[in-house]
Amino acid sequence: MKILEKTKNNMVLSFVVLAYGILFVTMPDKAMAAVGNSMYYVFEMLLIMPVVFILTSVIEAWVPKEVIINGFGEKAGFKGNVFAFLLGSFSAGPIYAAFPVCKMLLKKGASIGNIIIVLSTWAVIKVPMLANEAKFLGPKFMFLRWILTSISIFAMAFIISRFVKTEDMPKEAEEAEEGVNVNQDYCIGCGVCVDICPKVFYLEDKKAHVTDMVIVEPMKVKVRQAAKECPADAIGVSG
Ligand code: SF4
Repeated sequence: MKILEKTKNNMVLSFVVLAYGILFVTMPDKAMAAVGNSMYYVFEMLLIMPVVFILTSVIEAWVPKEVIINGFGEKAGFKGNVFAFLLGSFSAGPIYAAFPVCKMLLKKGASIGNIIIVLSTWAVIKVPMLANEAKFLGPKFMFLRWILTSISIFAMAFIISRFVKTEDMPKEAEEAEEGVNVNQDYCIGCGVCVDICPKVFYLEDKKAHVTDMVIVEPMKVKVRQAAKECPADAIGVSG
């Protein structure tokens, strides 16, 4: 039953495992090639992501919120757009490295439009990519694509920011005013918290909830452990 529940809660991972299983039985040579490719990306992530997380944490801790609001917030106007464009353009690393950076910027007051500009420039027109593009496809091609893509990015940022507001974004698990809470937007229903502290957490509709139980001191240790191990940072604990 537990395996079934875990499978249901991790549908994408289960599908990948199943696909690998079928591939190993039917086409083992292709399966080995797929494993090789997957390992390449796993190692790439292991090399890049720790650096990204450390940098993001340092910026989060040391750069005051006002600096981000002034530079990338709603009121920064065109100056904010330019900063966002430069940040994405002079970034390094794959696009998935941009997500923790953008999450941090958003949390500190960056506007949705500027987040879109950072993500888009990071993905398609960052400087190291342009240099390679000019080398392989010619400077004329690179320059024209850069101009047209840049215009599209600004247009996209303008349009999306009209439809998506900061209030629509998932919130970080905030410190609960008292006791424990689970941010339903962030919870992925993995069940880790329930395994660690079943007296306080339970799963319903693929989301963790908190029981009415009064949390006394020995249990707080378990609750804090659950908050620490929650892969989605969805648990807030106070006291
Ligand atoms: S709160 Fe965290 S640990 Fe608990 S089910 Fe949700 S994502 Fe998993």
